[in-house]
Amino acid sequence: MNFWVATQNAHKVEEISSILAPIKVKSFLDLENPPEVDENGSTYSENAYIKAKALYDIVKEPVFADDSGLEVDALDGKPGIHSARFSGPDTNHARNVAKMLEVLKDVPDEKRTARFRCVIIYIDGSGKSHEFVGTLEGKIGYEPLGKGGFGYDPIFMLPEKKCSVAQLSADEKNIISHRAYAVAKLKEYLKL
Ligand code: IMP
Repeated sequence: MNFWVATQNAHKVEEISSILAPIKVKSFLDLENPPEVDENGSTYSENAYIKAKALYDIVKEPVFADDSGLEVDALDGKPGIHSARFSGPDTNHARNVAKMLEVLKDVPDEKRTARFRCVIIYIDGSGKSHEFVGTLEGKIGYEPLGKGGFGYDPIFMLPEKKCSVAQLSADEKNIISHRAYAVAKLKEYLKL
């Protein structure tokens, strides 16, 4: 059986393959003509469903998609589903990180709490969808630290471990991350 994940993000495919190992994961990157997917939902669930359905309609095999983001309490949960474009439409991770540090520059330590959230939509072989959620709690730091991971990892601090997510090894991140928790719930559901 193929296990498909609806993403174009090679880094995510790597994280998910390692979480699901030894199951082999395929993605939009394995399709010759991947569909253009307009993630125009207003929730993580809607966006994950849009991606999963676009892939399911092509491969007709079990598919899952995740949608994730960073929720900063001092920003009333923003950027949330807009995390990838926090600093503008055609941006990158470094600029998003820089903008977050700038926006929070006067916010005191105790108010810098935040979480990553990941919502997975799994569409089974018969086309029925199922949802799984995982979160990772932490705090926004004051400068980028570490070279691992992607996105906001260098400024997402784990107070218990006294380091940023980007300072964890890939294996360590894949045990504690929001994505790992959501995938673990999916694995439990699938009895994998
Ligand atoms: P996506 O739509 O699920 O690909 O994620 C949207 C954005 O959320 C990413 O571009 C990142 O900015 C942020 N994000 C999601 N997951 C992570 C993570 O594991 N580490 C850091 N940033 C993340």
